[in-house]
Amino acid sequence: MKKRSVFTGMQILMDGEWIKDHVLIVEDKKIKNILPVHAYKNDMTANNYEFAKDHYLIPGLIDLHIHGSAGFDVMDASANALSGICHALASEGVTGFLATTMTASDEQMASVLSTIAKFPNQEGAAILGIHLEGPFISAGKNGAQSARNIKLPDLPLIKHWQELAKGTIRLVTLAPELNEILPLIRELNAMGIVVSAGHTDATYAQTNLAIENGCTHATHLFNAMRGIHQREPGAVSALLLSKKVNAEIIVDGLHLHPAVVELILRLKGKENLLLVTDAMRAKCMGDGEYDLGGQAVAVKKNIARLADGTIAGSTLSMPHAIRNMLQFTQCSLIDAIQMASLNPARVMGMEAHKGSIAPGKDADLVVMNPALEVMMTMREGEKIYQ
Ligand SMILES: [Zn+2]
Repeated sequence: MKKRSVFTGMQILMDGEWIKDHVLIVEDKKIKNILPVHAYKNDMTANNYEFAKDHYLIPGLIDLHIHGSAGFDVMDASANALSGICHALASEGVTGFLATTMTASDEQMASVLSTIAKFPNQEGAAILGIHLEGPFISAGKNGAQSARNIKLPDLPLIKHWQELAKGTIRLVTLAPELNEILPLIRELNAMGIVVSAGHTDATYAQTNLAIENGCTHATHLFNAMRGIHQREPGAVSALLLSKKVNAEIIVDGLHLHPAVVELILRLKGKENLLLVTDAMRAKCMGDGEYDLGGQAVAVKKNIARLADGTIAGSTLSMPHAIRNMLQFTQCSLIDAIQMASLNPARVMGMEAHKGSIAPGKDADLVVMNPALEVMMTMREGEKIYQ
């Protein structure tokens, strides 16, 4: 017998609009149908989820840049840590994410990648793959990344890591100015890996060359990269201006001034922006002393910094990023949700199954109340949070 769930009451986000007075039916792992209320016959055998009309039913949120949460970090290289992150993210409406690594020693990387590859991941949010943040980055723009483990482009190493990860590396952050980076970018593309410019001191010209060779993504645009100078427009300008590049932004009110968020939105448009958290283990834990990729981090008033004051990841949640986006810019709720669901699904090439609500798509669903807090999360037909 097929497992069914039925959502009633709330407005449903579909095809860029809020649909009212409809019922959404889930069968097994998929969205089966969306029907007008009057056309639906009550099914007593289904799990019924009824919420008020002012609640929202939206696609599951997808975070392509997250290191940890609830005291756990991907770099802990343990199934327990991954499980803790997956459960914590479910409570924030995230149904899928890229487990994001830091620049670390070869031994640690090997251990992290094989742990993720072996992780069963049956509960909580789904790990959609791995985001390698480094190690081919700029020593001068390392941010909270450990400088001593930064490496020059090394294709055999990436191939070895992709084997350890059983093909789950989906995105690599690298610096376009490094020697021999262009052949590596082309090779990563051939392996089906998204190439992202980040932690970089690349010039405008160097960044454009990387884009021409297959770099299509920007890691936390503006943060840890060469900024705009009137005679040297820098990596930021190349990434802002190229129509081929999707840009991650950390909209916590700290990494980017609200005016810069508005500027990015106007230049890139809602289709090419992705909300990410870049969250670290202190998320959901409160202030205190933590670590990120082996470096000590102090969290005060939800702001994570290294001892020298460098911002070290965030404690941001995706719903909070959405609420900030609405506050900082002129975008609509529908646009902000798109930046946290459909756009990341598209970057991953998963938009046929994930990132929006339509019959036949994966039943990755989130119920939000009018204050945009998560009331319930479903991943592939299974309730993972309420
Ligand atoms: Zn990061």
